[in-house]
Amino acid sequence: MNIGIDIDGVITHEKKGKENIWLRSLNNYFEENIKRKKDVYDFSKAYDLPLEDLSEFLNNKIHEIYSNVGIAPNAKNIIDKLKNEGHTIYLITARNEKFRPLTIKWLEQHKVNYDYLFHEHNKAELAEEKNIKLFIEDNKSNSNDLLNKNIPVILVNKYHNQDIQNSNLLYRADNWNDIEEIIDELIARVSS
Ligand SMILES: [Mg+2]
Repeated sequence: MNIGIDIDGVITHEKKGKENIWLRSLNNYFEENIKRKKDVYDFSKAYDLPLEDLSEFLNNKIHEIYSNVGIAPNAKNIIDKLKNEGHTIYLITARNEKFRPLTIKWLEQHKVNYDYLFHEHNKAELAEEKNIKLFIEDNKSNSNDLLNKNIPVILVNKYHNQDIQNSNLLYRADNWNDIEEIIDELIARVSS
């Protein structure tokens, strides 16, 4: 089975609340106590920052954040297991293509095994083209697009994705152990 996996917030471990790597870095950068709004993914709106400030922050810090972010617990082991079972792993990220070398290096450092890496904003269209049968994602709008194309989604629960559309193809996970369990069940269902 072809499995699509998002990188940021799914394979990376951004952590929660005050520990969130983006929030911590924003607060250090602006020396303020910035808070995150619920159910908003768009960065500028979520942190209520003027676009100018935000782009200055990103220009200065995104490289550091992408390089230093940790890996989600068990992500590597479970992706290894999926590969051993014969699944094909498509990493599909909306990160700008200029971060490709950094991203490949990070994946190597954390020993993440995969078959393909794509930089793509329109994930649902690419998923359809690549015959992806299951997508692991945390972004609400990508997930809605995937569900609208009848591609099952395992949604990694976040503050910003609680108000997604209902669907019998939508599965919620808090961590990679949940993801593993859901995939095992899905596969058992298909093969029984
Ligand atoms: Mg993401």
